[in-house]
Amino acid sequence: MTRTLAIFNQKGGVGKTTTAINLAAGLALAGKRTLLVDVDPQGNATTGLGAGKSTLEFTTYDVLMGERSWRDAMISTGVSRLHLLPATLDLAGAVVELADVPGRELCLRNGLREVEAAFDYVIIDTPPSLGLLSINCLAAADCTIIPMQCEFYALEGLAQVEHTLRLVRRQLNQNLSLFGILLTMVDARSRLCRDVIDAVRTQYRERVFDTLIPRTVRIAEAPSYGEPVLTYDKRGKGAGAYQALTQEVLAR
Ligand code: ATP
Ligand code: MG
Repeated sequence: MTRTLAIFNQKGGVGKTTTAINLAAGLALAGKRTLLVDVDPQGNATTGLGAGKSTLEFTTYDVLMGERSWRDAMISTGVSRLHLLPATLDLAGAVVELADVPGRELCLRNGLREVEAAFDYVIIDTPPSLGLLSINCLAAADCTIIPMQCEFYALEGLAQVEHTLRLVRRQLNQNLSLFGILLTMVDARSRLCRDVIDAVRTQYRERVFDTLIPRTVRIAEAPSYGEPVLTYDKRGKGAGAYQALTQEVLAR
């Protein structure tokens, strides 16, 4: 059975795209047939995997609009078994074009039909803020991973994410579960960071991944080489952390 994981947090800049790219790459390197779906008009996952945006024939936009199948739009990447459904700024237009369409929240779910036959994992990179695109991601997923930074507002942010997940469960997707909370950009020397980790673990317990993603220069620079940190700096600390996360995901 295909597992569809949305990497979601309505807050921006928390490590969603970095996690989507590296978890997807980790699963592919572990032998799983994996599709990474970029559902952010910023197209960071697309650039981060080295796909030239000007050369793309079709994108997530076409799939969302029901004009193309995912088979037409997906491209291969530098990592074997990892395919990408790329996004460009066009995707921003989908929100406007779908505004009056009945069932507009389910366009991605419909667009990904029959993906089961081709992939073991589908990883969805979601945009920041809450809108029609994020809702489509949550409606299409069976679980969510919530990356978050160690900051003072962390618990407030998580409460907002939980509220959103409850609404989506009630209205659109009963089966949506919280797969895990992932602490990103962790600086173990920071007192605040350690306090936040303790607070999140006390409240969310086993729903928090054991793996902590450290803040490293290699993780930040890998996308500029169009590679996951898992291949760009194989033996580094960042790659090790994303490998550990991959193992946790495979084990759950
Ligand atoms: P957005 O909400 O804009 O889509 P995002 O949640 O997808 O952002 P990322 O793009 O993954 O977040 O990360 C934000 C920035 O932080 C990027 O420049 C990224 O390279 C950097 N970054 C992410 N994780 C780490 C890390 N562990 N160490 C160092 N830099 C990181
Ligand atoms: Mg992003």
